Amino acid sequence: VYILGIESSCDDTSASVICDAKVLSNVVANQEVHSKYGGVVPELASRAHQQNIVPVVQQALEQANVTKEQLAGIAFTKGPGLMGSLLVGTSFAKSLALGLQIPLLDVNHMQAHILAHFIKDDESKIPTFPFICLTISGGHTQIVKVINHFEMEILGETIDDAVGEAFDKSAKILGLPYPGGPFIDKYAKLGNPKAYKFTKPKVGDLDFSFSGLKTGILYFIQKQQRINPNFVEENLNDICASIQFTIIEILMNKLKNAVKKTGIKQIAIAGGVSANSEIRNRLQLAEKHFGWKTYIPKFEYTTDNAAMIAITGYLKFLNNDFANADVTAKARLKVTE
Ligand code: ATP
Ligand code: FE
Repeated sequence: VYILGIESSCDDTSASVICDAKVLSNVVANQEVHSKYGGVVPELASRAHQQNIVPVVQQALEQANVTKEQLAGIAFTKGPGLMGSLLVGTSFAKSLALGLQIPLLDVNHMQAHILAHFIKDDESKIPTFPFICLTISGGHTQIVKVINHFEMEILGETIDDAVGEAFDKSAKILGLPYPGGPFIDKYAKLGNPKAYKFTKPKVGDLDFSFSGLKTGILYFIQKQQRINPNFVEENLNDICASIQFTIIEILMNKLKNAVKKTGIKQIAIAGGVSANSEIRNRLQLAEKHFGWKTYIPKFEYTTDNAAMIAITGYLKFLNNDFANADVTAKARLKVTE
C-alpha cells in the first residue's frame, strides 16, 4: 500500500511517499529564514510551511510516480512541536484524507524518529524487540526501551537542555551559524579531541544534563578570548573536537549504564544528532568492543523528515489504528503517549 507522510513540527516542511516499508520519495524543504535569527522563529516557520506544503507534497508524489488516488492513507505529525507549524500539516492532512476518503494516521514525532529504523532499505538492518534507543535531537535527549512498535518506556532523559541544543548553543558561542551541530561536526574532524577538557555533569545513571556544560564552555571561551582575542579563530578545530568529544563521551557512558541496567545489548540511535559522525563511529565500534548490536539510521532519516512519519503511519495502518476526523495537534506529547 502507498502511504503519504507529512512532517511540519518545526522548521522543515517534508512529504514522503512509501510503498509498504520502502521509501519512494522523501522531499525536505529547509527554511532558510531562521538562520539569520540564530534560532527558529515560530511565526515565520508557520508561514513558510503554508507556502511550502502544496509544492512539497506534489513533488513527493511526482518523485514516487504515485497519484493521490493511489494512496491508502495519509500520515501526519500530530506533535510534539511548534503549534503554528503542526497546525499547517494537521489541517492539510485532514482535508486531503477527507477529500480522498481514505484513513488518516496521526503520528507522534518522537516515536517516528525511533520507528525510522523500520524503513526497509537494501543495506539496512531492522531492530528486533526489545531494544534501547538513544533519542538525541533538537528538543529531546532520552533513553527509551522499545518493547514493540508502539509500546515504549522512558528509562532516562535530560533534566534541562537537549543534546542538540548543547551543540547549537556551543556553536553560537563560537560564532557559527544556526543550527551549529553540523558545523561542530565538520570542524571537529580536523581537531584534537583532547586539546581542552570540559567537566561532565553529575546526574542520575540514565539522566542527562547539558546546561552546566554549556555554561562551562561559555566561561572558558570568554576567559581565553580575554587573553587572546583570536583564540576561537586560531583554535576552532580543537575547540569543536573537544566539545564534541565531551558530549559523545557523556552519551556513550549513559548507553553503557543502560546496557548494564537492562541487560539489553541491542542499541539504536535516532534524531538529528544521530547524524553526528563521531556518535556514528563510536556506536559502530561498540559492536566490536562491547558486543552490542547497533542500529544507526541512514543519514537522511536522522533530522526531521516525512519518511519516518510515513513508516510510522504505515505501521499504524497495519494495526487499523486510524485517527478520528476531530484529531488535533498537540504541542506537548510524550514518546509514550
Ligand atoms: P525534536 O525532534 O526533539 O522535536 P527537532 O525535530 O528540532 O527536535 P531534529 O531535527 O531531530 O530536532 O534535530 C536537529 C538537531 O540535530 C539540531 O540541534 C542540530 O544541530 C543537530 N544536528 C544535526 N546534524 C548534526 C551533526 N552532524 N552533529 C551534531 N548535531 C547535529
Ligand atoms: Fe525531530
